[in-house]
Amino acid sequence: CYCSPYTKLRLANGFTTELFKKGKTREVDWFSLSAVILLLCTAPFLVFFFVMVCDQYQCSVSQPLVELYSGEATLRSIWEKAPSFTWTAAQIYTVWVSFQVVLYMCVPDITHKFLPGYAGGVQDGARTPAGLINKYEINGLQSWLITHALWYANAQYFHWFSPTIIFDNWIPLLWCTNILGYVVSTFAFVKAYLFPTNAEDCKFTGNVFYNYMMGIEFNPRIGKWFDFKLFFNGRPGIVAWTLINLSYAAKQQELYGYVTNSMILVNVLQAIYVLDFFWNEAWYLKTIDICHDHFGWYLGWGDCVWLPFLYTLQGLYLVYNPVQLSTAHAAAVLLLGLVGYYVFRSTNHQKDLFRRTEGKCSVWGKKPTFIECAYRSGDGGLHHSKLMTSGFWGVARHLNYTGDLMGSLAYCAACGFGHIHPYFYIVYMTILLVHRCVRDEHRCSSKYGKDWKRYTDAVPYRLLPGIF
Ligand code: NDP
Repeated sequence: CYCSPYTKLRLANGFTTELFKKGKTREVDWFSLSAVILLLCTAPFLVFFFVMVCDQYQCSVSQPLVELYSGEATLRSIWEKAPSFTWTAAQIYTVWVSFQVVLYMCVPDITHKFLPGYAGGVQDGARTPAGLINKYEINGLQSWLITHALWYANAQYFHWFSPTIIFDNWIPLLWCTNILGYVVSTFAFVKAYLFPTNAEDCKFTGNVFYNYMMGIEFNPRIGKWFDFKLFFNGRPGIVAWTLINLSYAAKQQELYGYVTNSMILVNVLQAIYVLDFFWNEAWYLKTIDICHDHFGWYLGWGDCVWLPFLYTLQGLYLVYNPVQLSTAHAAAVLLLGLVGYYVFRSTNHQKDLFRRTEGKCSVWGKKPTFIECAYRSGDGGLHHSKLMTSGFWGVARHLNYTGDLMGSLAYCAACGFGHIHPYFYIVYMTILLVHRCVRDEHRCSSKYGKDWKRYTDAVPYRLLPGIF
């Protein structure tokens, strides 16, 4: 695999862009490096902390800190009280991941044949920086449906295992997911040096931590079809999301004899988000995760550990704190969640439609307005693109993120106001999406130069019109 420096290329439109060239390495600034090392060292403990506080402190985030401060508890005593790795959890997790691999690799999609409007089966990804267009077997919706049908059949008829199985093994499963997360990230790291899928699409920096965390290979694959990014993000992570929530609801039923309206809201709102993801899996191939990010610890460990454990904190919280919401509160949460989802989906849909039809479509009943842009690709070729300035994309530059944040806030608000624990999600999503917005805009500014400036003049706000 070649090393790649960024080399500055002056564009026809008077701005510079950064391109990779073979043969040298890119420098990492000290700030990025510190952030990478900090995340590598703290993220696994943060996940442990949020799960452990529910197990030992009824989800109170401050209680363990108070006890540590007063000497009532020590880090060692907290650690020793936490359930450890078990072979039962290892078996459950092995069966789970293997089953998802089988569904991903061995069951070609048939749902697109009878679901109108659904784009499944073999689909093209976006062009990689080296100019490749990868093919993907889009069968996530089918995997989700089969998995959930089996879950339902087990709960209703077969009774092979209890529906609370995930909750009952939650911390032992945390160790198993960490093992897979580190194995996958380390494998992807070593693979990039020894047998990269496409050497031209590798990105090396001069720093080993940065390479490990942000990834070297763009689209690592085993064989022709096992794509690391698509599999790890979607399958063990997002298919599991709704099952984890169902397991929490089953636990509430077992412990209290009823399921709270807050738990139902969290299950329903998050299931809409998950189903939306799988319904639009082909569209996902064109998002930043697949189009721009390389596969390293950030995606590998994040998909295996961070996503299933921290995206499901609300359900976990509600097992320990069975909040029953007033009708008005529940209605407000539902409304916020649905409006957020509408803004998120419609914004993404408008851009997708606009780009697919090259602007020859109708947005909010009118022909969309746009700015014509030019940019150069890595091979020096001049290309043209369009940035829409009407519809949601004329209100702010990233209303899809705003809608996502409204939905995230709704999940948290469904848990009431007893503890800050379930609100970690909205804090995290705000940091993630604001950072992503800044990162994306930096890239777009390098790519489109003065045309991007024209766009930001026409649409001055990022997430909240008049504020940010
Ligand atoms: P976007 O779908 O917003 O894509 C950004 C790209 O769109 C830009 O790089 C640019 O690409 C193009 N673009 C920007 N402005 C315009 C415009 N006005 N008209 C046309 N094209 C434009 O970003 P993401 O891929 O990050 O997000 C996709 C969705 O996934 C979002 O809704 C986000 O909320 C969600 N998401 C959720 C996460 C979660 O953990 N829950 C994590 C990350 C994302 P180009 O170079 O082609 O011009």
